[in-house]
Amino acid sequence: MDLTDKIVKLKKDKKAVILAHNYQRPEIQEIADYIGDSIELSRKAAEEKDAEIIVFSAVDFMAESAAILNPKKKVLLPCLGARCPMAQMLTVDAIKQAKKLHPNAPVVLYVNTLASAKAQCDVCCTSANAVEVIKSLDAETVIFGPDRNLAEYVSEKTGKTLIPIPEWGFCPTHLLFQPEDVKVLQMQHPGATVMVHPECSSEMRKVANFIGSTSKMCRYAKESNAKTFIVGTEEGIMHRLRKENPEKEFILAYEGAVCPNMKLTTLDRLYVALKEEKNVIKVPEPIAAKARASLERMFEVKA
Ligand code: SF4
Repeated sequence: MDLTDKIVKLKKDKKAVILAHNYQRPEIQEIADYIGDSIELSRKAAEEKDAEIIVFSAVDFMAESAAILNPKKKVLLPCLGARCPMAQMLTVDAIKQAKKLHPNAPVVLYVNTLASAKAQCDVCCTSANAVEVIKSLDAETVIFGPDRNLAEYVSEKTGKTLIPIPEWGFCPTHLLFQPEDVKVLQMQHPGATVMVHPECSSEMRKVANFIGSTSKMCRYAKESNAKTFIVGTEEGIMHRLRKENPEKEFILAYEGAVCPNMKLTTLDRLYVALKEEKNVIKVPEPIAAKARASLERMFEVKA
């Protein structure tokens, strides 16, 4: 039996389900029961009724969200070192300080935050529903963290004032994209459609034909009549885009746009974690209860 077969057998024996983020390695995506972005996977985790174990192939904050939404299930993160640097940028102290400075402003946090931060906010959002979440609030000024670029994008879309916390939170992978590279690719592929993630810089957003989360990019690529796409998000998405649209061409806007944390999940690590049921993600209930309320408020917003 090869490793993939062993994982499939273990998955069945242990009533486990594997959720994989769009940025995971192709072989992890192939073995997963569900592939998606953070909101799709959070929903799947919340709806999961039959599985006893959830293997969350992604980074720390996503597995934490699954554990928060499924307190009775065992949630495993195949590699404990898979931490999102952006999530680490926002501390509880920074949120408390912002609340003191702007006592009337609600706090909206991107799901790319640790559970302790989520427990301090009014509602969470993802890159797929951030605009709708901000629009749903009866407030013109909102404290928003940790991604400064997403804050700027949402502010442009809603006309509301977003106070970024920390002042310069960012995704190191999405900051690698530069408009100059896109311009060169556009010369090589005239007429190509440029799709960009809102975590990219405003300069990148300016050269985009379409701005959206990874789930929105996948839908857009399927529905669009365009044949060639220049893609401004982490390279793992290319596997899914190419698989779902074999007749279309996808070019990564910068070849080096690889999130090293997302790639820490390997088949070996997933196998060992599931076999030994190790790397269980637990969130203390007082924090989990507050963070759960923030996530559930997000689910109530229609996007
Ligand atoms: S791609 Fe960026 S936001 Fe996503 S896990 Fe990696 S560092 Fe974090």
